[in-house]
Amino acid sequence: MSEKTTYAIACPVCGQIQMISADSSLTEAEQRQQALLACNCSDGVNARRAKQRAEKAKENINILFEGDGEIIIDALSNIVPAIANNTFAKVSITTEAGIKATLTAKEQSIKVERTEKKTAALES
Ligand SMILES: [Zn+2]
Repeated sequence: MSEKTTYAIACPVCGQIQMISADSSLTEAEQRQQALLACNCSDGVNARRAKQRAEKAKENINILFEGDGEIIIDALSNIVPAIANNTFAKVSITTEAGIKATLTAKEQSIKVERTEKKTAALES
């Protein structure tokens, strides 16, 4: 069972106190993250936008790669936060089956691309 607790936490960027109602098992790092997401300073606004971009991108990953297995979905989903906060501008993964996944950071969104390359080759 998780209980809700009300926290008074300073935004880690600007120091404004935010009142947050959240699960009582939050770690300190999670509490600070929640405070940032609740804050109206520019970093807080950016953090909220990054979170929304990340959530939308994860939905799109699930739609596009549904038939390609959990591993690729997990791998891409794990990269999404770093794309959402602009640590990475673009990441591509190619699976053994030749499916290429590309995540690209756009100003207001994250582009999720799936490319399937079929190459036939003979060697003797
Ligand atoms: Zn703030």
